[in-house]
Amino acid sequence: MGALLTGGQENIRGIGMTSARTRDRLAERLRQEGIHEEKILERIRNVPRHLFVDEALSSRAYEDSALPIGQGQTISQPYVVALMTQALLEDENGLRKLSKVLEIGTGCGYQTAVLAPFVRQLYTIERVAPLLSDTRDRLRSLGIGNVRFRHDDGFRGWPGQAPFDSIIVTAAPANIPEKLLEQLGPGGRLVVPVGPTGGIQRLYRITRTSSGFNKEKLGSVSFVPMLEGKEKGQGR
Ligand code: SAH
Repeated sequence: MGALLTGGQENIRGIGMTSARTRDRLAERLRQEGIHEEKILERIRNVPRHLFVDEALSSRAYEDSALPIGQGQTISQPYVVALMTQALLEDENGLRKLSKVLEIGTGCGYQTAVLAPFVRQLYTIERVAPLLSDTRDRLRSLGIGNVRFRHDDGFRGWPGQAPFDSIIVTAAPANIPEKLLEQLGPGGRLVVPVGPTGGIQRLYRITRTSSGFNKEKLGSVSFVPMLEGKEKGQGR
């Protein structure tokens, strides 16, 4: 995929080829599950997911499952990350390049890393402070430089930077957050899982049209809850 990957390529090479086959298998599995955009599959193959999880779990990093990352949070399942990325970027003519995207729920930054090369500037908000500072360091060391971080409650969005071309939410609110809809530009998309904790959550793509909003259901997912307010978190 050429230029899109140059940012993190050296680090990716530096970790050796030990898991190349495992990564190919993961990408192949996602393709079978319906991820059809080759550039997204290639990005999933190239992002070193083992660097986003605790060392003790690194042997499981290329399984298609969510894993714990501390502070009671999880790293999302690769399939869901790919699905949400595709939902933001796909177009009749392939992938659209987005200028300004807001992400809510930075966590360990895996979704951030997958999305970053497709976007000119990515803005990400996390409510738990220690997660955010670790992730800032991690993404920097991977050579991903087009991300701005904010410690805040994502329900507020990032009014100073709105409107956004798209907004992606990686924690589940009980209802669609109105403030985020307001921060979408024309044609902008909000991709968000909605529903109760531990219950069935639906993944929605809501597109701002000239006359209002168009809502599509993309499937069932399971995310940690989107919580109000921000936290200092417990040190580790
Ligand atoms: N995107 C991550 C997964 C994040 S898990 C990945 O790629 O693996 C969900 C994250 O959302 C957690 O870190 C949680 O602290 C955060 N979160 C929950 N409610 C939030 C809110 N209101 N604002 C910002 N972040 C929130």
